[in-house]
Amino acid sequence: MKLVVMKFGGTSVEDAVAIDRTARIVAARRAQGVLPIVVVSAMAKVTDQLIAAANAAGRGDRAGALAISARLRHRHHDTARKLLVDRDVPPFSEWIDKQFEALDEIFRGLAAVGELTARTSDMVVSYGERLSSSMVASGFAARGLDAVHVDARQCIVTDAQYGKAIPNDALIEKRLEELVLPLLKEQKLPVMGGFIGSTEEGVTTTLGRGGSDFTAALVGGGLNASVIEIWTDVNGIMTTDPRICPDALRVKTISFEEAAELAYFGAKVLHPATILPAVQKNIPVAVLNSRNPENEGTRITALASHCRSPFKSIAVKKKLTIIDVVASRMLMSHGYLKSIFDVFDKHKCAVDMVSTSEVSVSLTVDSNEKLPEISADLSKIADVKYDGRKALVCMVGEDIRGQNGIAAQVFQAIRHVNVRMISQGASEINMSFMIEEDDVEEAVRSLHAAFFRDPDPAVFDVEARAAASQ
Ligand code: ADP
Ligand code: ASP
Ligand code: MG
Repeated sequence: MKLVVMKFGGTSVEDAVAIDRTARIVAARRAQGVLPIVVVSAMAKVTDQLIAAANAAGRGDRAGALAISARLRHRHHDTARKLLVDRDVPPFSEWIDKQFEALDEIFRGLAAVGELTARTSDMVVSYGERLSSSMVASGFAARGLDAVHVDARQCIVTDAQYGKAIPNDALIEKRLEELVLPLLKEQKLPVMGGFIGSTEEGVTTTLGRGGSDFTAALVGGGLNASVIEIWTDVNGIMTTDPRICPDALRVKTISFEEAAELAYFGAKVLHPATILPAVQKNIPVAVLNSRNPENEGTRITALASHCRSPFKSIAVKKKLTIIDVVASRMLMSHGYLKSIFDVFDKHKCAVDMVSTSEVSVSLTVDSNEKLPEISADLSKIADVKYDGRKALVCMVGEDIRGQNGIAAQVFQAIRHVNVRMISQGASEINMSFMIEEDDVEEAVRSLHAAFFRDPDPAVFDVEARAAASQ
């Protein structure tokens, strides 16, 4: 059995037209004799809206939450009407109403209590993928595909870290074997929601924003798929975010290590955790465009290919804060760095980049809520300043290993931009620096022009230029 996991992001299931397109892509794969397992995100923007509604309810704004919910209910009804054959519409619409009644009940409860916990937030946002996956399964069935809906929460078993739960690989593998494998053996097409899971006790959890990619990789790893396909709204992994730089080019192949680095440092096209299950089982990952399925996309494989530019892509992570810790009272002494990191550890705050001098340490973090507490604790050991609205630009490529003069080329390209911190990654395949958020567009465009202007057609797809700027 040749299994392929096909994950479709929010834009690939955003309305009836998109779901119809997706059905045709899946039907074409089946016609090639492979057995797909489909993983879908919530319809585009639905997760954001569910979060906004949950927050409103948590503030006591019951009317605000119910108004968002009513709009979402209408959108799902509208899609079902356009997607399904007449006979299937009434029972499916009834099912949609039941889901929204349950959701509204949660909102009323939240508004009455005036408090939103991470656990309830996960329950609320899970409706996005629960609705979309049932809708897609019914839409596929209406188009003659032998689709069966699988509740992802029965397969993706996680711990109880709501909002960013950690999957239990062994249990997931077992559940997939019990619940999904038999369907595949009967030549059925399993369709499940991404992003959501549940604890062993059955409490709903989520894998963190953008987590449907992660689900796809967990399913692919658990079932030993031949390939994991991530279908999205661009032609693959591009030389940078095409929203910042419309002439970004498609990268044909990229290594697991390069892709992981890019995802971790902000390239939204892939969730950072996606790569690990694929690496563990050496399963290639393909990133493809559901609006342009003929395009070859990007293939992520164990070994990197070489290209003319030493870099493969430029990632950007915004909304970061730099914290400067200055040891005015004592020069750095033994254990000083440890005492600083202990503070971040205590507040469970991840640090992205660090640079040190004789008396000062600068660190960057992306969570803002805990800054006052962190700063208060750090002030006990040193003087502290923090400065928000910063961005990290990360240039990734395995070919920079041991090459002379690369840093000079990078900083020459952005000589007009004020650079606050620099790091050449320990992995030796990335070069990162912090700048003001307002300088991001200019910096990325200048770097892109310097390193990707004259593409080697063997590696970069020149045609993608037109597609990316549509
Ligand atoms: P999906 O809903 O399909 O998961 P996302 O919005 O999460 O899609 O990711 C796709 C988006 O990622 C693209 O529309 C693009 O703007 C953005 N992006 C950021 N960096 C890159 C990159 N290097 N290559 C391609 N897309 C990127
Ligand atoms: N719907 C979730 C989100 O928007 C998960 C995903 O789309 O990958 O974060
Ligand atoms: Mg995504």
